[in-house]
Amino acid sequence: MPPSLTPSYEVIAFGAHPDDLEAVMGGTAVKLARSGLSVLFVDLCEGEPARHAARGERHKQAAQAAKILGVDRVTLPLQDRLIRDTVEARLDVARLLRLHRPRMVFATSGAGVHPDHQALTQIVINGVFYARLPKWDGVPGGELLRDTPPHEIQRLFSAIAGWSPLGTGSISPSV
Ligand SMILES: [Zn+2]
Repeated sequence: MPPSLTPSYEVIAFGAHPDDLEAVMGGTAVKLARSGLSVLFVDLCEGEPARHAARGERHKQAAQAAKILGVDRVTLPLQDRLIRDTVEARLDVARLLRLHRPRMVFATSGAGVHPDHQALTQIVINGVFYARLPKWDGVPGGELLRDTPPHEIQRLFSAIAGWSPLGTGSISPSV
């Protein structure tokens, strides 16, 4: 879709896997959406292979959850279990931010045992920074941002969850 036809969102929230965002900030998302703000959930991968579901089931559940919460949802093509803070991932995030031009960005906190969750936090922080930089011509990979103007968000929020090992006394959702 050409940038000129892309809808803007006031809020974009990034999670590593489908179900991270609804688990960590589902209530916040509902409040934001019901207050009239447009909200986009971005999952960095489609969450396959899922430990506890057949292929495709997680995608269906994610779409249903988005509908219930009143948010839109897209998926980036990273690989579950192998998510890393790479230049390519930062540029993917930066492109989304430049296309949709949100005021507020949410990222799940990098604390916890899952390396995908740890990587997400750095990817989003770095993607937010890349999004506001001009002059990507001549930078390897920078052509991804060529057709979008720089965009600076107003606030980056950290959505904190207790993704901790069992036995530490905190809640440990199965992710
Ligand atoms: Zn997760």
